[in-house]
This record gives sequence, structure tokens and C-alpha cells, in this order.
Amino acid sequence: MIKTPLWQLIVLTCILAVVVSVAWQLGYLLMGLCLSSVAYLIWFAWQWRYLIRRGARLRSTIVEFRQAIDAFPDAVVILNLENEAVWCNNAAASLLGVHYSGDYKPPSSLLQIPKLKRYLLRQEYDEPLEMTSPADKKITLSIRVVAYGEAYYLLVARDITHLQKLEQMRRDFVGNVSHEMRTPLTVIYGYLDTLLEQPDLETWQPVFAQMHQQTARMTRLVGDLLLLSRLETHQLSEEQQEEVNIPELLADIYNEAQMLAKASAHHVTLDVKSKLGLHGKPDELRSAFSNLVINALRYSPPESTIQIRWFDDENGIYFEVEDNGPGIAPKHLPRLTERFYRADTARSRTTGGTGLGLAIVKHVLLRHDGHLEIHSILGEGSTFTCCFPRERIKKLEEPAAGA
Ligand code: ADP
Repeated sequence: MIKTPLWQLIVLTCILAVVVSVAWQLGYLLMGLCLSSVAYLIWFAWQWRYLIRRGARLRSTIVEFRQAIDAFPDAVVILNLENEAVWCNNAAASLLGVHYSGDYKPPSSLLQIPKLKRYLLRQEYDEPLEMTSPADKKITLSIRVVAYGEAYYLLVARDITHLQKLEQMRRDFVGNVSHEMRTPLTVIYGYLDTLLEQPDLETWQPVFAQMHQQTARMTRLVGDLLLLSRLETHQLSEEQQEEVNIPELLADIYNEAQMLAKASAHHVTLDVKSKLGLHGKPDELRSAFSNLVINALRYSPPESTIQIRWFDDENGIYFEVEDNGPGIAPKHLPRLTERFYRADTARSRTTGGTGLGLAIVKHVLLRHDGHLEIHSILGEGSTFTCCFPRERIKKLEEPAAGA
């Protein structure tokens, strides 16, 4: 049975009306009215007591809840639809530099922190924001925002300095190991080169050939590991970037692909629809684009067609490689850019893949504000598209007449 105060009030009014009308019938109207009024007052007092108790319980729950959130090591801030902080816990002071000093004083504005302001105004909260704490430059924060209720957002800032240090140590470790391995590998490779040319060691030639091949593979792997660790650890500075003539770069990549395709009997085409260039680092862009072309050559069987494209639209500018090779099953697609993830392990190894190609492509694109899109149908082929925002576009200077 639903027991709302309104429902109770209606029932009480009906009972009192019956009592009064019975009392009136019996000729005791005055007494009936008095009794009804007393009963009404008793009911009202009981309701009042109930409300006071309930209010007190609610207040103590709110206080306990705030104490629990205050004890939380992460900064918690409640934002309204205008992104104004309306409440925050204690940790918000040490991590974000915002304070809450009473019920009616809103905490100082988070919109004074430029990076956070941009993140909040963009309203895309799928990826957390990483930033240096405005309260302590030594602290790195990971910020998440979730909507709740109809008019509020919950902002949670977590100190990830320790995690970042570990991540940095991992990157440094991989970078250092790869660097240290490069010299011994070069020496071994060099000696094997010489040994392969020694006619008096003919019986050992198959062994040397295999050692030579494996050393070459390891050298490629170490090279890719070093490149990846450099892409992860060093920021791309403005001085390293320039106007990159992509149509020219693609002509080079196309020529190289055609040379490789001669041996493998692939058909390679180049379709440059846009004359625009990119603002970026030429060697990184070349490495990303040729990785995709080489993958297409590696994974599609002889006689397949590989189409290389460069085009733009109102949203951005795109480099695309399409092949009609074996395709990739949908379950592999989300993980393809992870280090050493292979959709077809056996084929990747026999074709000499290091398992790092697409991870390198992903990092290069991230450093150029771009992203990689992969579409593939098993048995029909794959399309890898590097998407760059229009802000990255550079209009190329027309070559001087007669040049
Ligand atoms: P790998 O050195 O093994 O090629 P990548 O990171 O370049 O490493 O690629 C990851 C995996 O993605 C490959 O092992 C392969 O299974 C799959 N792959 C990449 N490109 C293609 C393609 N064009 N067609 C089919 N599979 C591909």
C-alpha cells in the first residue's frame, strides 16, 4: 500500500468528515468537532516529529557522506552545467588548488586552469585528461569527468605521478637495452658478412646464412624498438617540424614499392588527389606511410593490387593504403596497433615482420594530431587510413617557372 502524506491526509479528512456527520446526526455536533480537531492536531504533531527526525537523519547522512569523500585521496569536485565548481573535497586543495570554505561560498573556479578549461569546454570525456597539478608542479594528474543527475558533473582527479615514473622507467629501460644491443649486433653482422664470403668455409655456409638472416632480423627489431621508444619519450618540438611535401614523398615511396613489387608481382597504384602538404616531421611521416605500404606488400599474395591515395575533404587530409589481400578478422582490429600483436603470427614471422610496425604508425600519427583507421573484411582486403586534421595542412609553394 502506498503511504504518502497526501494520501494519509485524504484518509484522515474522510474519517473526520464521517465522525462529524455521525456526531451531527446524534446531536453532538460540538463534541464531534472538538474530538476531530484534537485528533487532527495529534496527527499533525506526529507528522511533524516524523519530519524532524527524518531531516536530522538526512543531515547526518550528508555529513557522513561528505566526511567519507573528504577522506578520499583523489580530488572530487562537483561541477554545474556552467562548469563552475559547487563543491569539492579536501584533496581538491592539494591536487587542484581549489578550496571549499562553507555551504554558501563556491570553491574557486577550475576554469582558471587553461588545459582543464579546454577539456571541460570540449565536453569529450571518453579519454581522461593528463596534466600537471596546478597546485604542485611535481604532481601529474589524471582527470575524469562523468555526468550525473540532470545538471551536475563529477570531476575526479587522481595523482598518477608514481605510475608515470614507472612508465618512464619502462620506456627508458627498453630504449637503453635496444641502444646497448645495437653495437654488438652490428659487429656480429659484419663478421657474418665476411664469413659468408669465405670459399674455404663452404660447408658452414648454410649455417652462416641463417645466422646472418636472424641477425638482420634482430637488428631490425632493435631499430624499431629504439624508434618506438624515441617516439614515446621525446616530445615533437616545433623546430623539428617543417612543411612536408607529401605528394613528393609519396612519389618516392611509390617508386620504392614498385621496385619491391617487381619481385613479388604486385600491382601498385598511386592516386594523389590533393596538392596539399603537411606540417610535421618528414622522416617520421615517411616511416609511417612506408610501413603501411610494406605491410600491404607483405600480407597480400602475388598479383594483388595495392592502391596508395592522398586526398582531402572538409574535415581533414588523408593518406590511405588499400589492398585486396587476405583481410583481418574483426576480433583483431582493435588490438592491431599494440606492440607485438599479430593477427597472423606465422605469416608475420616468415615475412620478417617485427610486430612493431603499426605501433610506430599509431605513435607517429598521434604526434601529428592524427589517428589511424583500419577497415578490413576477411578474404577481401584491408584499408589503412591515416587521418590528419585540417590544422595540419600546409599549402605547398608552387615550383618557380622553369624549375
Ligand atoms: P608486423 O611486423 O608483424 O607486420 P605490424 O604492427 O606492422 O607488425 O602489423 C601487425 C599485424 O597486423 C601483422 O602481424 C598482421 O597480422 C596484420 N596486418 C598488418 N597489415 C596487414 C595487411 N595489409 N593485411 C593483412 N594483415 C595485416
